[in-house]
Amino acid sequence: MDGGWRDGAGGRRTALVNPATEEAFVEVAAAEVSDVDAAVESAHRAWEGGWRDMAPGKREALLHAVARKLREHQEEIAQLERLHIGKPIADARDEAGLGARVFEYYAGAVTKFGGQTLPVARGGLDFTLRQSMGVVAGIVPWNFPFPIACWKVAPALAAGNCVVLKPASLSPLTALKLGQLAHEAGLPPGVLQVLPGGGSTIGDALVTHPRVRKVSFTGSTEVGKRIMELASRDLKRVSLELGGKSPNIVFADADWGKAADSSPMSVFANTGQDCCARSRVFVERGVFEGFVERFVAATGKLVVGDPADEGTQLGPLVSAGQRASVEGYLEDARRTGARFAVGGGRRAGRGYYLEPAVLLNVGPGDRCWREEIFGPVVAIVPFDDEAAMLREVNDTPYGLSGSVWTSNLSRALRVSRAVQSGVLSVNSHSSVHVEAPFGGFKQSGLGRDLGMAAMEGYTELKNIYVGE
Ligand code: NDP
Repeated sequence: MDGGWRDGAGGRRTALVNPATEEAFVEVAAAEVSDVDAAVESAHRAWEGGWRDMAPGKREALLHAVARKLREHQEEIAQLERLHIGKPIADARDEAGLGARVFEYYAGAVTKFGGQTLPVARGGLDFTLRQSMGVVAGIVPWNFPFPIACWKVAPALAAGNCVVLKPASLSPLTALKLGQLAHEAGLPPGVLQVLPGGGSTIGDALVTHPRVRKVSFTGSTEVGKRIMELASRDLKRVSLELGGKSPNIVFADADWGKAADSSPMSVFANTGQDCCARSRVFVERGVFEGFVERFVAATGKLVVGDPADEGTQLGPLVSAGQRASVEGYLEDARRTGARFAVGGGRRAGRGYYLEPAVLLNVGPGDRCWREEIFGPVVAIVPFDDEAAMLREVNDTPYGLSGSVWTSNLSRALRVSRAVQSGVLSVNSHSSVHVEAPFGGFKQSGLGRDLGMAAMEGYTELKNIYVGE
């Protein structure tokens, strides 16, 4: 805090458990409600005291300096990510690099994002300004802790705000490293505060603090709704990136073999703990059998194992609780008659591992079809009619992501328009691009991360008219 390290006011600490070994390996200070006030006030002072009015070129240079630090420390960040959430090391390296890329992109945005001049009817000069808001609270989850922290912090700072970042209790290490490196890169004290602590302890205090002008949240739909309710009391701005139950739609005219080979990682990557996971697969009946066979074969080849091994593709679930929750869904699926084409069992030895599960014979009312599982579980169903399939695709409170596979361009465009989601990929499973907006329809969220859309979300729009 304020550019230095501090214990929480109550002196409490949280032990972190490595999910691959089930052993506690470090303790981290946990903030109390009174720490929230200190952090927010300090961020507010930093905003008023210079960051808000800093010359754009200087702010741009500082964000580039942060990006350079992140690149220099990419391996250290990746190893911390591996330790606290069991992220496979190759993915953790990529995500550390992604975080640096996010800072580079928004460093560039500082001098490229602005207002407009408008030819108003009465003459004179009319122009708009994009102005910073003040203190932004960034609340981030444990599934992609480092990149999501970066894509909240970097655009908020680029737009001239100061940030109080609250990492998830399971994954504070890379957020703390980000705070340290940003300070070493020259970010003035108070501009970025990192506040580890329990959401149930400090969440309400952070969200309702009168000096916090925007809450940018990624996590569960349930907590997102609570944040929106609390934020409405003083009309704080909110952006919410929440859960998903995304479709993967495969038409018979597609290169369905390619779709089948690549689809397992569209749902099982990050051990299924991914809001974009394509967990409902719709396959046109003519190629259903062949698709399932190849999907199951590709699933069988995935390397589940120690996140420290270079070749590992799937690590453990993040915690014993998360694995128990996923197993609850699998138990339900067994009871309601789902057929397990492969997977669903534990792996022998230590660590919160689960073999990725492919479910067939799942009905539209089944819990594993309707709810976000956040684990390595997918259900595949056949379809005959495009319109009926699309009704089913959209019959969910969620609308985050999805894929469509077809070689027919008209169909690709028609279906892309019809799927109710904020992000969609055609003949690909790629959802996240630093340069493009990311967020959801319906109960998958509000507002957008990434791209220039994020800059809009971290600024107020002011119109100024100058008479002649
Ligand atoms: P949460 O929504 O509880 O946690 C996300 C973040 O919000 C964490 O930093 C958490 O802190 C914080 N938080 C929790 N309660 C509050 C509160 N009252 N006020 C402010 N912040 C709060 O998700 P979980 O970690 O419990 O995961 C539960 C489920 O949510 C998953 O199984 C998955 O379905 C979904 N999820 C979706 C994500 C996504 O990317 N869309 C990401 C994570 C989860 P703390 O960790 O200290 O509780």
